[in-house]
Amino acid sequence: MSTRYPAEVDVTIVGSGPNGAAYARILSEEAPDAVIAMFEVGPAVSDPLGSHVKNILDVDARTLAQRSSQGPAAAAETVADPGAVKAGARMARPGTYLLEGGYQAEGEDGMPVVAFSSNVGGMGAHWTAACPRPGGSERIAFLPDLDELLAEADRLLAVTTDAFEQAPFTALVRERLSRAVDPHRADPATHVQRMPLAVHRREDGRLVWSGADVVLGDVTRANERFSLFDESLVTRVLLEDGRAAGVEVRDLRTGESHTVRARFVVVAADGLRTAQVLYASGIRPAALGRMLNDQSQVVFAARLTDVSAPHDVQGGSTAAAGTISEQSGVSWVPFTDEEPWHGQVMQLDASPIPLADDDPVVPGSIVGLGLFTAKDLQWDDRVEFSDEEVDGYGMPAMRIRYRLTPRDHEVLDRARAQIVELAKAVGEPLGDRPFTMPLGASLHYQGATRMGQTDDGRSVCGPDSEVWQAPGVFVAGNNVIPTSTACNPTLTSVALAIRGARRIAAELAHSES
Ligand code: FAD
Repeated sequence: MSTRYPAEVDVTIVGSGPNGAAYARILSEEAPDAVIAMFEVGPAVSDPLGSHVKNILDVDARTLAQRSSQGPAAAAETVADPGAVKAGARMARPGTYLLEGGYQAEGEDGMPVVAFSSNVGGMGAHWTAACPRPGGSERIAFLPDLDELLAEADRLLAVTTDAFEQAPFTALVRERLSRAVDPHRADPATHVQRMPLAVHRREDGRLVWSGADVVLGDVTRANERFSLFDESLVTRVLLEDGRAAGVEVRDLRTGESHTVRARFVVVAADGLRTAQVLYASGIRPAALGRMLNDQSQVVFAARLTDVSAPHDVQGGSTAAAGTISEQSGVSWVPFTDEEPWHGQVMQLDASPIPLADDDPVVPGSIVGLGLFTAKDLQWDDRVEFSDEEVDGYGMPAMRIRYRLTPRDHEVLDRARAQIVELAKAVGEPLGDRPFTMPLGASLHYQGATRMGQTDDGRSVCGPDSEVWQAPGVFVAGNNVIPTSTACNPTLTSVALAIRGARRIAAELAHSES
């Protein structure tokens, strides 16, 4: 049986999003002799491989890339802002698709808009690229090197804080938010500031959003021992004597299954599907799928009414439709334990609510406010997998079991009050009251393969992301984050992936010497 896959490699990586890419990058840098095969169930949708679809200027080509990322729901209608779907309809964001069933058990909150992306680059080809650092109880206290890992994650994701500095009124928005927030906060690190973004400006002036391509970097692309196979579903991790031995992978182009042997297997198959791959492989520790948490999200908008367009700003947006434009300054209200939410304040292209025809919008003057709240962690919040039913890929079907606690409701109430205060501080609020997004909308699913300091039955993997129960198997993604976070989690999960990749590199070096 001919196959495009190698029979044996040193490391296989399941999933090609930012976290899988971080393993490939660190291994290419630190273990250049290692043979690495990356498998991705979705197709390649952008060039360079894994690049962000916002970098595709042609609208039709970008729409095709988004639809091709939507797995079994390629033809489904999507909505750029799930906050716009207020009538109880379930709709996904472009480039993502929703869990078809099992998203809400009777009498529970569930996660009605829990979503996935299946494409080279994963959700990292569609994300907003906000990369704040965790603070207070969001941090993982048992990792002494967390700050160094976060700095390294900044390097891999090419995080900057000045990409939008020339956006109109950004400094003004920040100043007004600061006046409302900073006086209650003693620690300057928690003051309002520019949002760190995985966005940089090329020499020709164009903005570039980081995707998995940026994380892979030239060093991985030049690594002849690294290969990426798209349309390749890993159905199972293979174990021998309890240790990683390789993967079983189905070539979706031929329908044939193959075995690829490997000493190390990294499962970076997203917040929920990483747990699914372990389950399908018979790796089922008690904590698998448990302590699932997502960030609830409250949104509102305000308008700067006391400003006029600067001379150098054109009325139209320089960005392609549906992308962040040059007018999109992004400000950050950091999480604190006392105010357990994270604020992302973005200047929008257009008002989220209709304005009068004779009331033209000054570019940059519409300000979208979003507060993400940290979940009260519960053992019973979980993703379960079926032994009988399968999903669109033939993998064990998921069922979400998820409830908000009284404390979650209390924090949400406070966040709703706070966002109104912030809107008033910025300008004139647009609309009567904030909108609370349907659960799952944040796309930040954490905990399902959580990290622990010790194998205490409450975690799936150790501080290097190696699965306690299966040496040589590593897990990656937001699912590894053990704390309850409100900040966007990708920077943190990439930091954890860097630690895991270094461990594999060290083991490979040790076995060579
Ligand atoms: P993913 O990027 O989801 O990649 C996982 C890959 O694994 C997928 O491509 C999937 O197809 C593949 N896969 C799954 N199962 C298998 C299998 N069995 N075999 C082979 N391949 C498999 N995060 C932030 O931190 N900041 C933001 O501002 C932000 N904004 C976002 C906005 C949007 C619209 C979206 C969609 C997401 C946003 N996110 C944001 C979330 C962010 O994109 C994710 O945190 C990040 O992509 C996670 O990286 P990952 O590599 O763990 O998973």
